[in-house]
Amino acid sequence: MTWVLTPAALGLWSTAILALVVVWIVLRHDAFPGSRVFPYLMLAIAEWALFSGLEAASTHVAVKVLMSQLEYVGMAATPVLFLIFAARHSGYDRWLRRPGWRIALWLPALVTIAVAATSNQHRWLWTNYLPGPQGSNAIIYVHGPAYYGIAAEVYAFILAGCVLVARSAFRHSGARRRQAVTILLASAFPLTAGLLYVADVNIIPGLDLIPVSFFTTGLVFLVGIGLFRMFDLVSAARNALIEQTTDAVLVTDVDGLVVDANPTAVHWLGADSSLVGQRIAAVFAAWPKLRSACLAEQTDHIELTLREEPLLHVDIHVTPLREPEGRKAGCFVVLRDITERYQNEVTLQQANDQLKRHVREIEGLQSELRDQAIRDGLTGLFNRRYLDEILPRELGRAAHEGGVLSVVMIDIDHFKETNDTRGHREGDRLLSLLGQVLRSGTRPGDAACRYGGEEFLLILPGATPEVARDRMNTLRTEYAARLHAEGFESPPTLSAGVAAFPTHAQSDDGLLRAADTALYRAKAEGRDRVCMATAGPANAAPS
Ligand code: GH3
Ligand code: MG
Ligand code: MG
Repeated sequence: MTWVLTPAALGLWSTAILALVVVWIVLRHDAFPGSRVFPYLMLAIAEWALFSGLEAASTHVAVKVLMSQLEYVGMAATPVLFLIFAARHSGYDRWLRRPGWRIALWLPALVTIAVAATSNQHRWLWTNYLPGPQGSNAIIYVHGPAYYGIAAEVYAFILAGCVLVARSAFRHSGARRRQAVTILLASAFPLTAGLLYVADVNIIPGLDLIPVSFFTTGLVFLVGIGLFRMFDLVSAARNALIEQTTDAVLVTDVDGLVVDANPTAVHWLGADSSLVGQRIAAVFAAWPKLRSACLAEQTDHIELTLREEPLLHVDIHVTPLREPEGRKAGCFVVLRDITERYQNEVTLQQANDQLKRHVREIEGLQSELRDQAIRDGLTGLFNRRYLDEILPRELGRAAHEGGVLSVVMIDIDHFKETNDTRGHREGDRLLSLLGQVLRSGTRPGDAACRYGGEEFLLILPGATPEVARDRMNTLRTEYAARLHAEGFESPPTLSAGVAAFPTHAQSDDGLLRAADTALYRAKAEGRDRVCMATAGPANAAPS
């Protein structure tokens, strides 16, 4: 077996080595969309270039043919891997998850390899091998029908990949668009080389330009990574912070596609695989608040319950990302687990609510107690204690304002008799009914009190003694009517004495005494009447 080191062989081997260097660089670089399949693409190109180089270096026809057959392994895999890479990078890769599509993608490659391997038997690929130009060790492969079929298939795959990348270039702007345009430019090399080969244009005899051109594609990527920082939008975000943090982190691009998501985000958002390439609107479909915060692309801070069972409550920060020129580039979304704090807050809030309820209950009881303390249980009127509190106060106010104040002392006539004849219970009912009549017959600001036993006192601030007397006469009539309506036969009447400040007395004691004297006079004069105190506490005139 003889080998010659031809320029073509050297070129192809350099290609293989450089393709391996690209693999090494990409593996050391941070992830980017399609970064998992890219090294396989470069490996396929390396294999292709290696055997293509061996073919070029060999002088023996049988060895050359064998090398060409081996070349077909990498050659068949390259367009498939290119299409998968293009789909992943552009985000149009959902269809790749279906096993049917994967089989459909790889089947032509397997057929190609099988056809190449069995070429000598059927000669569909190469019908004959002719000697190359004088002085060269190259041979000319006379192509059979399978060759053109394979060429068409390779073209179809590369074109499909280009269409996906072009669509993504149109849809994106900024870094993503620059990446897509770079891939498109790079794809032009194998397309052109393929055309030249099919058209039998041989620039360097024996040098198969296609693997070289595919390598050029890889080289453009290498330059893109190194010089243009092609994948830096993602790699800048995907630093140690993103990978190591216990927070969920997502990076979205300007079109609302997820370009990066750490494992916590995948787990929390309940995704089964990577979120990369998915629409943010779909990823956050269950949380409209979160979705609109991300799509609004402005700094936002929200809290929400991501999951009920087990509870996961998160605090979310949305930060818009901008390119150096200031153009929108996407969003940086950080979700932090604040379940514990949230639960504490909820517990605290519940305890607080309960405390408030208790305080309200106590306040209610207190006011009830206070009401009980100042009211008489049987009649519902103010009691003597309250009277002692309110009368000096009202009197002081009247004195201060230079106003008048009347008091009316009321006593039920012959009540003892009623009690004795009709029973104590019926007596209580009479007292209670009088309470109702006095309460409904006094205005706000007036006070009706049970003075003791069957004696009552009205305090009427602002009322002159005449007004007080008239009011009392009205009340007497109302009480009589009420008792009548309640079915009392020969109901007891009321006697009352009216005294006023400042006309009849100046002090509360004096006023009570004057009213009591007037009442005494009313009793003495035959009951069932109202008497008004006259000039002094001892004098009272009937009216
Ligand atoms: P007068 O016309 O002179 O006022 O005669 P009177 O019988 O009304 O006066 P007296 O002071 O002799 O009797 C008052 C009665 O009122 C005595 C008492 O048994 C009754 N009494 C006092 N408090 C209550 C009460 O809360 N319920 C009942 N049923 N009776 C009461
Ligand atoms: Mg009495
Ligand atoms: Mg009485």
